[in-house]
Amino acid sequence: MSSTIYPVAVIGGGSAGVMAVLRCVLNNDECLFFPGSAKDRKRSRAMWVRKIENMPAHLSYERGIEQPNNETLDWIAQSSFARNLHLMKSTGVESLTRDAAGIFHLTDHKGAVHQARHIIFCTGVMDVQPLISGTIAPILPYANLQTVDYCLRCDGHHVKEKATAIIGHTKGAAWVAIMLYERYRPSAMYILLHGQASQIDAETQELLDMYGIKTHEAEISKVLGDPKKGMLTGFKLADGTGLHAEMGFVSLGMLVYSDLAKQLDVKLDERGFVIADAQGLTSVPGFYVAGDVMAGTKKQIYTAWDTAVNAADAINMKLRSARRAEDLKKFRGN
Ligand SMILES: Cc1cc2nc3c(=O)[nH]c(=O)nc-3n(C[C@H](O)[C@H](O)[C@H](O)COP(=O)(O)OP(=O)(O)OC[C@H]3O[C@@H](n4cnc5c(N)ncnc54)[C@H](O)[C@@H]3O)c2cc1C
Repeated sequence: MSSTIYPVAVIGGGSAGVMAVLRCVLNNDECLFFPGSAKDRKRSRAMWVRKIENMPAHLSYERGIEQPNNETLDWIAQSSFARNLHLMKSTGVESLTRDAAGIFHLTDHKGAVHQARHIIFCTGVMDVQPLISGTIAPILPYANLQTVDYCLRCDGHHVKEKATAIIGHTKGAAWVAIMLYERYRPSAMYILLHGQASQIDAETQELLDMYGIKTHEAEISKVLGDPKKGMLTGFKLADGTGLHAEMGFVSLGMLVYSDLAKQLDVKLDERGFVIADAQGLTSVPGFYVAGDVMAGTKKQIYTAWDTAVNAADAINMKLRSARRAEDLKKFRGN
């Protein structure tokens, strides 16, 4: 184990993690940064996000999170703040403990142990994919070219005047359909329960009926279209029904990557999101959270940035207060 105790360690290298790192180094705080292993990256939203249309100044990026993040890290490496960044390239954190003195011990994927006084936890979430004949492969080419989407605020506008299928069976999925219908008036709209029992209550069902949004129970057996071009034309169901669709929206919930927080007994909500105050401080002293894994936030890049800045600034304030108290002690000659 290295004897160095870093003031801050940032876990996760998506929108929240990179903003946390940027703010820490610009605050002149040394920061140990774990962006995650190749496996962590592959299962993160950061890796799958492509064109970003709902934020200014991002349209030129083909990969709207990865490219600006890499530019930011490159800039830090060339700046006068470079010495503040301790980048553990392609490394993730495997386990976490906190000792009696309040120091965090982080064991990385390679077995090395690192120490930090504060943590900003930014491991994100992932959208649940529909299994079609036991695999997610049929949906991915369309997801990659954004004719199948997941995030309402990010990509809801894609359904404008398009025949749209919602995949999901919950009340939440029904509200995705209702909201998209009310906003964009797609040329057709229906819900694919994909073999699951409907959890849509009577009140919500009445709204679906009012808008003519039908639900189809049978499992999806095939995604129709040209996967190479990402051109969706519809869905074939196991009962033989064929349905036209130009857009799909998946609403099957999220996998929340809060396992490391669980190891510290951090308070989570019923869905597994990490509960924190306005500064991102969780139930464990010194353990802050930012981004999608934080409870009660919009799951967006700009909220990931904002929550990351809150946490980095709160930690900086604590570090400055401690240093100020030391300086004052010396100044007074005690
Ligand atoms: C298809 C899609 C399109 C989207 N489009 C937009 C959009 O247009 N506009 C918008 O504002 N938002 C969009 N979003 C939402 C946006 O992607 C998220 O809000 C944002 O990525 C959240 O950032 P994050 O840092 O919290 O998590 P992520 O970006 O998911 O990053 C998580 C990070 O944690 C790392 N990690 C995980 N486990 C470990 C570990 N054990 N150790 C170390 N590191 C670990 C991963 O490697 C990754 O770097 C979209 C989401 C999806 C799915």
